[in-house]
Amino acid sequence: MLNIALFGPPGAGKGTQSEFLIKKYKLFYISTGNLLRKEIKEESDLGLAAKSIIEEGGLVSDEIIVQIIEKTIKNNPDANGFLFDGFPRTYVQAFILEGLMIKLDTSLNRLISIDVPEEVSVKRLMERGKTSGRSDDTEIVIRNRLKEYHDKTLPVLKY
Ligand code: ADP
Repeated sequence: MLNIALFGPPGAGKGTQSEFLIKKYKLFYISTGNLLRKEIKEESDLGLAAKSIIEEGGLVSDEIIVQIIEKTIKNNPDANGFLFDGFPRTYVQAFILEGLMIKLDTSLNRLISIDVPEEVSVKRLMERGKTSGRSDDTEIVIRNRLKEYHDKTLPVLKY
């Protein structure tokens, strides 16, 4: 198995690079952001719990993230490997990921960190907001997402 995590601030291009990597290495793509947006669309309990936090640009609780990650991994036992986009984003999630990999008798083989200057991020995401239909691609929310990244996610890189 080959397991890769893509790390970086909102707007770094994780989604774009994911497309290349999943094709090249035939990986199963897991974007916690996409999975959450799907839950919101389906109006599941999980989606309802996550909705207002996403709209504010905060981080959804680790409990919710762990549930969707476990479910997705369990439903894809034959995967060649996983590409995690936007996960782990907290220390707790990093511990959990390690545990899940051990359970599958594998490990996280690579973590690729993509960096981008803050103002470039804001510009890109505001541009994306014109067509993405994502309510969190507005300046105030983007700045909050970047703050959450610096406060809670960036420290995970050390781990
Ligand atoms: P981006 O990286 O561009 O901010 P994502 O689609 O990865 O976009 O995430 C959108 C939102 O979903 C985040 O702002 C956050 O509220 C929530 N989210 C996604 N992944 C996680 C995660 N691993 N932990 C907590 N919240 C998450």
